[in-house]
Amino acid sequence: MSNTHDATRARGRHSGPTRPTAPRRLADRGRVQVLPTDQPPEGATSPDARPRLSFAVPPARGKAPRHLADLDMAGRKRALRDAGLPAFRADQLSRHYFSHFTRDAADMTDLPAAQREQLCGELLPDLIHEVRALRADGGRTIKHLWALHDGVRVESVLMRYRDRTTLCVSSQAGCGMACPFCATGQMGLTRNLSAGEIVEQIRHAAALSEAGGLTGGPARLSNVVFMGMGEPMVNYKNVVAALHRIIDPAPEGFGLSARGVTVSTVGLVPLIRKLAGEGLPVTLAVSLHAPDDELRDALIPVNSKWKVGELLDAAHDYFEATGRRVSIEYALIKDMNDHAWRARLLADELNRRGHGWAHVNPIPLNPTPGSIWTCSEPGVQDLFVDTLRRAGITTTVRDTRGSDIDGACGQLATEALNQERAAHTR
Ligand code: SF4
Repeated sequence: MSNTHDATRARGRHSGPTRPTAPRRLADRGRVQVLPTDQPPEGATSPDARPRLSFAVPPARGKAPRHLADLDMAGRKRALRDAGLPAFRADQLSRHYFSHFTRDAADMTDLPAAQREQLCGELLPDLIHEVRALRADGGRTIKHLWALHDGVRVESVLMRYRDRTTLCVSSQAGCGMACPFCATGQMGLTRNLSAGEIVEQIRHAAALSEAGGLTGGPARLSNVVFMGMGEPMVNYKNVVAALHRIIDPAPEGFGLSARGVTVSTVGLVPLIRKLAGEGLPVTLAVSLHAPDDELRDALIPVNSKWKVGELLDAAHDYFEATGRRVSIEYALIKDMNDHAWRARLLADELNRRGHGWAHVNPIPLNPTPGSIWTCSEPGVQDLFVDTLRRAGITTTVRDTRGSDIDGACGQLATEALNQERAAHTR
């Protein structure tokens, strides 16, 4: 699967207990209709498991150490002053971090030798450790599993394309949104990541790309997508802080173009509206996957709070406020959401709100015999795409990069966790 907030989570294979149910026909539509409830959620340990939506953030298990990337420049200066260090060094530290991608005191020869370790210790603590790195696509994709200060695991995926290098970051450990096709969702939410923990994934990727760690030689990290583990809107404050660090020019941040930054959501409508007012013209991606509430209620549990119509209204208003065309993510799932009538309904819902404001990305799943979470027949996928295009909707079938490295988001972390649990019970 690609590392998207949605299809990446539709796992490449079904590993949970099965509760086979005969597919049924919707009386008025004529084609087979498979439902999300025909199988327990991905990663479920019991055949009776049901997705459990939760907005609760568990009590902190010890805060991540404060990091330069948690703070704006004024905050960094204040932190150094409070530690009895010269505040003006914040600017130099920030340039090393955001422009040279280093937190190593030995690299900072423009700082007084006697203060280097102390300055770095104050604002550049070690936040993430590599547990595993898996390469795929001939070395143009690298998926990292990271351990955080409290042992929590998260993932990021770095991908090199012809015209860009993209990092998919995690914003939470686990996720409370409980999408039934997503292994991460069944883990529940462990905790929000700090801005520093999000930004550290990016700094590592920028350094690795620049050093030629991806096949094809040195590359500049150009794009960041919040499509890894977690629902970014639930960790709103830290995600917005991380967005500033990504977009703000050095020494405040990395200075990436906002055009290359995407925040993906399953549809927390009030926070989409809030993000529209932040003055950060990043792209919004909406993991829609169904244009009708009947199906989306079961496929994306948060739809029980904010319906398709409210979500598309908020997405359209986001476009109006930012001028950024919204991406509509649509994982094509065989006989579940890939019906031509759904493509027509989706086109109608988008066109009803205006033209040219949204771009649909149908995402092919991996073929997974025996699972309801499997790819559409090629002809069905083509008809779905053609139906959208004929209705004037810009539609691009998404590249599913990383599919040969346990690419489903959350899968690597889940499997590492399971291995550790198995090791502890041996
Ligand atoms: S919102 Fe959470 S549960 Fe749903 S697909 Fe994204 S990570 Fe998985």
